[in-house]
Amino acid sequence: MGSRLTVLSGPSGVGKGTVVAAVRRRHPEVWVSVSVTTRKPRPGEVDGVEYHFVDGDVFAHLAKAGDLLEHANFAGNSYGTPRAPLIERLAAGTPCLLEIELQGARQVRASQPDARFVFLVAPSWDELVRRLVGRDTEAPAVVERRLARARVELEAEAEFDEVVVNDTVDATADRLVAFMFEG
Ligand code: ADP
Ligand code: 5GP
Repeated sequence: MGSRLTVLSGPSGVGKGTVVAAVRRRHPEVWVSVSVTTRKPRPGEVDGVEYHFVDGDVFAHLAKAGDLLEHANFAGNSYGTPRAPLIERLAAGTPCLLEIELQGARQVRASQPDARFVFLVAPSWDELVRRLVGRDTEAPAVVERRLARARVELEAEAEFDEVVVNDTVDATADRLVAFMFEG
């Protein structure tokens, strides 16, 4: 199989979380990193499951202490990958998946040269907007900020090892699994 570490990026609303859940149903042995964020939980999100939800002071402390493998600001909130749990899983040979945005992916590329990078895109811009708006989790101003970031991220597509179009969830999960385990 390929490298143990796969990094999945792509614009907000493209379906990263949905596809990662489908990958885990196929391959429960895949370990998905739980990030730290200063974003407030959405309804149904549980601390320690989707994210570790922290305040700005705690986040700054973790970053300063070097406890984050990478971190970035995205649309007004901070996000970061806890270093120790990931390094432990990689050392044990577990296939690991990070779902992070572009600036973080670039930092991981610098520190983990064996990692492999996938960029998930929607079938069209209009479909991306439909998914992000349809999720109905962010206020309109936040949706606008996320779409502005999406334009920037889409320009970086060529930096990734593989670009996958998220047409249907099942087909996309199959393609991501193929990339992770056979690529
Ligand atoms: P992200 O994690 O990239 O921000 P989500 O996984 O939250 O995106 O998906 C955004 C919205 O798009 C959700 O409402 C989800 O149900 C929907 N979605 C995800 N993948 C697909 C798909 N292949 N086709 C149609 N809708 C999708
Ligand atoms: P959301 O607020 O929709 O959960 O996530 C917003 C963006 O932050 C998404 O692009 C997601 O991939 C990214 N993200 C989540 N966790 C991390 C992380 O630990 N580091 C970085 N750099 N981005 C993250």
